[in-house]
Amino acid sequence: MKHSNAKVGIIGGGLAGIYTAYLLQKNGISFQLLEAKPFLGGRIYGEVTQSDGYKVDLGPSWIFPHQHKIQQLVQTLGLKLVDQFNQGDALFQRNANETPQQVSGQAPPPMYRIAGGTTQLIETLAERIPSKHIALDTTVSKLEFDGECWGAYTSSMQDQECSRSLQFEHIVIAMPPRIAADKLTLSSIFASQLSPTDKPEINATSLEKLLHKFTSTPTWMSAQAKFVVIYKTPFWRERGLSGQAFSHVGPMVEIHDASHEDESGKSVYALFGFIGVPFPQRQQISTEAMNKACTAQLVALYGKDASEYLQTYIKDWGTDSLITSVLDQTQASSHPQIELRSEEAWLSQVKLHLATSEFAQSEAGYMEGAIIAAQNVVNQLVSDRF
Ligand SMILES: Cc1cc2nc3c(=O)[nH]c(=O)nc-3n(C[C@H](O)[C@H](O)[C@H](O)COP(=O)(O)OP(=O)(O)OC[C@H]3O[C@@H](n4cnc5c(N)ncnc54)[C@H](O)[C@@H]3O)c2cc1C
Repeated sequence: MKHSNAKVGIIGGGLAGIYTAYLLQKNGISFQLLEAKPFLGGRIYGEVTQSDGYKVDLGPSWIFPHQHKIQQLVQTLGLKLVDQFNQGDALFQRNANETPQQVSGQAPPPMYRIAGGTTQLIETLAERIPSKHIALDTTVSKLEFDGECWGAYTSSMQDQECSRSLQFEHIVIAMPPRIAADKLTLSSIFASQLSPTDKPEINATSLEKLLHKFTSTPTWMSAQAKFVVIYKTPFWRERGLSGQAFSHVGPMVEIHDASHEDESGKSVYALFGFIGVPFPQRQQISTEAMNKACTAQLVALYGKDASEYLQTYIKDWGTDSLITSVLDQTQASSHPQIELRSEEAWLSQVKLHLATSEFAQSEAGYMEGAIIAAQNVVNQLVSDRF
């Protein structure tokens, strides 16, 4: 087993993992972040537009007014919040044979977006972390505790055969709990390496209970699919429409303005929609056909102008096996809630920490939750140092 020079191993490079890394760096605690994908961000993901290099958000867009911690972080990093555009009427598409209804006074509650896109948050945090502490394309498949330290067994996508192992004093799980339950082997260590007398409260039953709680915790928004379309002009705004639409027809059930304008006058005009077709049915439809159906729906809502788009994007999160489990694909979406009071003591004893958004005591599932959970873990690690 290779001894890592780092004290803490962080598994997962989404917002929770990278924010944990950022805080550990600030506190002078050594760490190594291990991310399975070849890029950081997890559910925060954007694709670059051909026209101007702006990244459209295919994961989260919104920060809510009561979510102060993430607002504070955005400010600290020198990024800016902008209001979600909501001026004008909304449209309601009741059925395919009726003209969509224009509804006044339906403005969504005030919400913020990060100027330049949510990926700015990940990119700006990553700039503040030395790259040698981040290992991309590194999947952790097994964790083994020897009573003192954790062995993390990793493999890379390019070389599935080659398995390395690194040793850390502390492990931070920053991957979705259901993916951890499905893909990480944790059990053998407790059964084989710790005798019940060594650590009486840690045994196969307590681990089984923990993994059961992981499996029962849905990964927020993980089975969603998002469609984004770029236009030359915001023709809906010019007609007094907010870009917000609700539909009983589909495939999109909810549509919003996703435009971006910066102070230098650079702008991208866009709409985005949540596709309401459940994952199992989406599997039967090609991306091309879904794309066609989404653009046709926009023409039905907004008229001919909507057919003159510059670019479209679809991200089906249901197919992302590092985020979405089979249960997420098949069960109705619900807010995550996990109660870990009975596990707290032994988790702390074995130096296993839980930082993913789903583990947060409030705002679980949201970006705010990722900040809360990561901060909580780093507070524990800082207090452990003294
Ligand atoms: C379509 C969509 C819309 C959303 N909208 C909003 C919104 O408007 N507002 C909001 O607040 N939140 C929203 N969310 C939720 C938000 O994206 C999440 O709360 C947040 O990004 C979670 O970050 P995280 O780091 O906790 O987890 P994740 O982003 O899931 O990161 C987990 C990371 O672990 C990695 N990983 C998995 N397995 C392994 C392994 N074995 N080894 C190494 N690495 C591994 C994954 O590749 C991933 O990078 C949305 C999510 C989606 C998908």
